[in-house]
Amino acid sequence: MLAMDYRGPQRVRIENKPMPEILHPQDAIVRVTRSCICGSDLHLYNGNVPDTRVGETFGHEFIGVVEEVGPDVHKLKVGDQVIVPFNIACGECTFCKQELYGNCHEANPQATAVGGIFGYSHIAGGYNGGQAEYARVPYANVGPTVIPDWMHPDDAVLLTDVVPTGYQAAEMGGIQKGDTVAIFGAGPIGIMAAKSAWLFGAGRVIVFDQEEYRLDFVRKFAQCEAYDFRSITDPVVFMKKQTDSLGADVCIDAVGAEAAGSKLQTITGRKTLMQAGSATALQWAINSVKKGGVVSIVGVYGPTGNLIPIGNALNKGVTIRGNQASVKRLLPRMIEHIQNGVFSPREMITHHIPLEDISDAYRIFSDKLDNCIKTVLVPPS
Ligand code: NAD
Ligand code: ZN
Repeated sequence: MLAMDYRGPQRVRIENKPMPEILHPQDAIVRVTRSCICGSDLHLYNGNVPDTRVGETFGHEFIGVVEEVGPDVHKLKVGDQVIVPFNIACGECTFCKQELYGNCHEANPQATAVGGIFGYSHIAGGYNGGQAEYARVPYANVGPTVIPDWMHPDDAVLLTDVVPTGYQAAEMGGIQKGDTVAIFGAGPIGIMAAKSAWLFGAGRVIVFDQEEYRLDFVRKFAQCEAYDFRSITDPVVFMKKQTDSLGADVCIDAVGAEAAGSKLQTITGRKTLMQAGSATALQWAINSVKKGGVVSIVGVYGPTGNLIPIGNALNKGVTIRGNQASVKRLLPRMIEHIQNGVFSPREMITHHIPLEDISDAYRIFSDKLDNCIKTVLVPPS
């Protein structure tokens, strides 16, 4: 089968790889019909996630058709069209029982932090991903959810990660009625966080990014304010001015480690991309939240804790929350929001690219070419 193949930082290609097989009675094999490239894949692509090995297949956002099921799979049948959450979760460990599906212990018993994730290096269990024609889906009774008949496949594929992650970013903020919410990052995750913030009662939603086309999109899609942080000099000062010097009630980091890219180097004067991204978005979030406020982190980080202004966070009494999204927990609510027209996530999809053109697809998404917001990879039919 055709599958994405990681060759080293910023080098990916399409490769012929062996078909996945049922390795456990609860496995299913899914023929992928759509997969996405995520901001999280850029951390892998840029070589910033430990234990990412040459030859790995990325892809944690995919939907498809069930081709084969193991003998203990009873919730799915061959032919079902399924949304596959990016978290691999056993459904039975102490964390899954608390609906912390992003922290499943069984799917990744060696790790102390992250659970299992498709196509996300050996720190997340070493599972192959769905940027391929087929994928093995472990614990198939737990995560995969049948796509409702009425749902557009482009909405369905965004339910594997983007929609629940953006929603959870807002949820973790503990937004109260009338709150001012500042969101750093207008990628797909920040866009969905902005849209979701209103559902929790936000009174004002302010998004920061440096890509004008993304700022334009989020203004319309989420009916919020959005600013190019390069034009306002310092988002921390800006937020204070907007809030009678108090600061935002809730700040959301939807950027993560190196998503900032090289453009930020000129602003921070720092040496590496990873430091540049993390030094700005998360510092800005902590420094612009009010005393006693909440910082919600969904941006993904490597080991860069030394760049966090933890002293400021302590002195202000800030609550810092973060996690991988718990997709399965949120799916029923997210499906309802799509059905009721509250969310129309597929408007974010700017590109459908054949899986065979994987290298171009990564470049376009990574370099934000051609006004790219979200890229869907389509395997040959
Ligand atoms: P993306 O790369 O498309 O978007 C990131 C955006 O941040 C870009 O538009 C970039 O211009 C902007 N940006 C860079 N530096 C900034 C700064 N200092 N301030 C404000 N904006 C800045 O990525 P995405 O797909 O939207 O994902 C965003 C983050 O969320 C990534 O770190 C990704 O790994 C993470 N993520 C987390 C989860 C989870 O479950 N926690 C799930 C999916 C994605
Ligand atoms: Zn993702």
